[in-house]
Amino acid sequence: MLSTPYYLIDEARLERNLKLLDRVRRQAGVKILLAQKAFSAFDTYPLVAKYLDGTTASGLYEARLAHEEMGGKENHVFNPAFTEDEMAQIVKWCDHIVFNSVAQWRRFRNFPGLPSAGLRVNHGYSEIEHDIYNPCVTGSRLGVPRAFVRAEDLEGLEGLHFHTMCEQGADVLARTLPHFEEQFGEFLLGLKWVNFGGGHHITKPGYDVKLLVKALKDFRARHPHLEVYLEPGEAIALNAGELVTTVREVFDYGLPIAILDASAECHMPDVIAMPYRPPLKGSGLPGEKRYTYRLGGPTCLAGDVIGDYSFARPLKPGQELVFGDMAIYSMVKNNTFNGIPLPSIAIRRKSGKVEKLKEFSYADFKSRLGRD
Ligand SMILES: *Cc1c(COP(=O)(O)O)cnc(C)c1O
Repeated sequence: MLSTPYYLIDEARLERNLKLLDRVRRQAGVKILLAQKAFSAFDTYPLVAKYLDGTTASGLYEARLAHEEMGGKENHVFNPAFTEDEMAQIVKWCDHIVFNSVAQWRRFRNFPGLPSAGLRVNHGYSEIEHDIYNPCVTGSRLGVPRAFVRAEDLEGLEGLHFHTMCEQGADVLARTLPHFEEQFGEFLLGLKWVNFGGGHHITKPGYDVKLLVKALKDFRARHPHLEVYLEPGEAIALNAGELVTTVREVFDYGLPIAILDASAECHMPDVIAMPYRPPLKGSGLPGEKRYTYRLGGPTCLAGDVIGDYSFARPLKPGQELVFGDMAIYSMVKNNTFNGIPLPSIAIRRKSGKVEKLKEFSYADFKSRLGRD
């Protein structure tokens, strides 16, 4: 059967998120796309397609995946810089494309078969504190600032796009929109669509859905001719998957340590990059329960640490531990550093039945490192 580590996608939780997003779509009169970079478990795309308008891609391969697996739903793509070779493929798969610079738009505006094109702009307003996730930092390479946009540059474009949020509430969007409109409002009349990017934490408990719907409806009332898109990633699969791991060994040289068969560095890289502390079933904060351990992965990296967690009973080798919220930015980002095996992918169907989708092997490690 299934051996650990494996990601376990929760179909019922995924559908719950999708239903909420569908309600926002219908109440606000906007379109919502899955940003595949957060979650691309394509076995679930038919379910996603039931509720959302389509997908957005960060480049060629994600665009192709959506074309192959999303059943003809809208297929948008953005990339900081496309090449001619990529464009020849993208025009076959995508119906919307977002360019990151005026130079790119100039280069591709007459490309045969070009889909509805937009420009990513940078209105310079963001409430993101972590610079690595902030597209509005000084010298940002993402989006064109207002001072560099002239009306004639926009000729032929049908949309504007911004993405300046990360895991944020509707209040942040409500504070962001006036900056966008103040700077780029004069161009909106000539366009067909706008895209407010991702970073909307819509399915997080406590998110103010009413305020989101109001902000979107108010925007649409001001610009009734525009189609409005949101393209969240996280919100689609938030809390809709687990990473099931096994304790390999336990020791204590002044600090109790448990080495797991899952690695933060390889299998949950955002734990280190964000950084954040993933929920772990049946555990407490350090010191909250009787036995506290530092949980780490089986790699050579000193910082391959998931975090400190406490338990009612001592951990034992062979014991399973289940991390929550592991569907997003996990499968799409993992790697085989140190030759660590990739976790399998499984899904818990709505019926409760667990089904294995994919198992990886030594061949997956070797095939990326040379010679066909
Ligand atoms: C990352 C990203 C998204 C999705 O962001 P989430 O934080 O996962 O909602 C959407 N659009 C663009 C352009 C992005 O870079």
